[in-house]
Amino acid sequence: MVAKEMYIGGKWTEGTSGKIFPVVSPIDGQVIAKMHVSSLEDTKAAVAAAKKSFYETRDWRDMDSQTRADVLLTVADLMDARRADLLMTDTVDNGKPLREAEGDVDDAIHCFRYYAGLIKAPYGGVYDVNAGFGKMHSYTVHEPVGVCAEITPWNYPLLMGVWKMAPSLAAGNSIVMKPSSKAPLSTIKLFEIFEKAGIPAGAANLVLGGGEVGAFLGESPDVDMLTFTGSTKVGQSLMRSAAVNVKKLGLELGGKSPNVIFADADLDAAAEWAMIGIFFNQGEVCSAGSRIIIEESVKDAFVGKLARKANAITIGDPRENPDMGPLISEEDMEKVLGYIESGKAEGARLVCGGTRYTEGECGKGYYVRPTIFDNCTRDMRIVREEIFGPVVTVQTFKTENEAIAMANDTPYGLAGGVFTKSLGTAMHVVREIRAGITWINCYNPTFNEAPWGGYKMSGIGRDLGIQGLYEYQEEKQININLSEGAPGWYIH
Ligand code: NAD
Repeated sequence: MVAKEMYIGGKWTEGTSGKIFPVVSPIDGQVIAKMHVSSLEDTKAAVAAAKKSFYETRDWRDMDSQTRADVLLTVADLMDARRADLLMTDTVDNGKPLREAEGDVDDAIHCFRYYAGLIKAPYGGVYDVNAGFGKMHSYTVHEPVGVCAEITPWNYPLLMGVWKMAPSLAAGNSIVMKPSSKAPLSTIKLFEIFEKAGIPAGAANLVLGGGEVGAFLGESPDVDMLTFTGSTKVGQSLMRSAAVNVKKLGLELGGKSPNVIFADADLDAAAEWAMIGIFFNQGEVCSAGSRIIIEESVKDAFVGKLARKANAITIGDPRENPDMGPLISEEDMEKVLGYIESGKAEGARLVCGGTRYTEGECGKGYYVRPTIFDNCTRDMRIVREEIFGPVVTVQTFKTENEAIAMANDTPYGLAGGVFTKSLGTAMHVVREIRAGITWINCYNPTFNEAPWGGYKMSGIGRDLGIQGLYEYQEEKQININLSEGAPGWYIH
């Protein structure tokens, strides 16, 4: 029997490339699985299977919406039954503490239930118009886009894919999914669940591998929509290839989000949230509050509190539920350590952390201590570039306008936080921050119900919420002539 790897046209296959990629656990650098990379032919076959399912067999697209919702609810129930396996898979594959993987799996289950419920939500518009020659009745309907290619990162291996798969399948599309080769295992398990739940052959396909497989999907003229979560650089290259057939595009990209703290804030609470903002999931979070922008008068007191908390963070094997586990890979750890060195070289003050963590068994994995840099300035690389690890910078301001200017001093626009007791200040600053997701007196809570996405170079479109369903739909205008006869123009 072929091991569970790619899933194309309702069949499990190891594909045709013969090329293997190892899946490495960052806990100890051990190879936990060996998978085949999808070849160009495999990727074409997956796209062809999705195309056939959408345009010919149409069994998913034309399934009545109640039955389609029931299938998605079955997916959620089967995930629930396999919850322990799914969350341990993400912990071992990605390195996130078990507690955080639990949160991801529960969110993913609820995401399927949420979109199963939304399938029958009201949509479209009705317009009574006069077209010049007489009355018209105009209305709109929503229809699935067609073949959707979906490419996801490794930081929330299961959840980022589900944010795309649940709404796109709910809308009746046929999909080709490509998870990150750094953490693909929970997505493979989800496809076993899809098969068991009765998603028809060809409606959901899975290919495996890295950038080259993603690039095939970007270039394919048979893909109607491409939805991508990952770095801004890759998002830009996919935008270029999507031009080939003017694919519909959804992009959830990188961030360098500000966390603005005013002197009147509850500094203890702000420090707790700032910790969650930057050290949750080892700092490997697109919305991480990686730039603390704090009112000068309270900076020293605040940095002292934050440093005490950061020094108390427990680091270790994520299966034992420490505060922080390892970073995803040796390469990513080296990249983060490189940024730490650049911060020191550019004159930032290292307050705590700043090194690899190698105590006990951790020496075999890719652990980095929580790191705080003070006295940071706008030109430093650690302030300008997304580090994607447990590293936070601190800058100070004197006036509200200065705080807003600093918050927006980035090409990114994903998220931002504001801490203050003044409602007026909070409302003003949060409206001025050019970002898609903002928090007042908290940082990072995320919900299936509310749309998620970025301004500026953090992306295009929205995941989650009703907007996340509309992303995978086209809206069609239907116009009915309510007057009798022809318009009387151009009659020869
Ligand atoms: P990445 O861009 O390196 O890879 C993301 C996915 O794209 C992977 O599946 C990868 O195999 C694939 N890929 C790589 N090169 C490609 C190419 N040339 N063509 C097509 N596909 C290609 O990102 P990553 O390291 O996996 O994830 C980290 C990034 O993701 C960070 O920038 C983070 O901010 C971002 N992210 C954003 C959100 C969001 O909601 N905005 C959420 C999570 C992560």
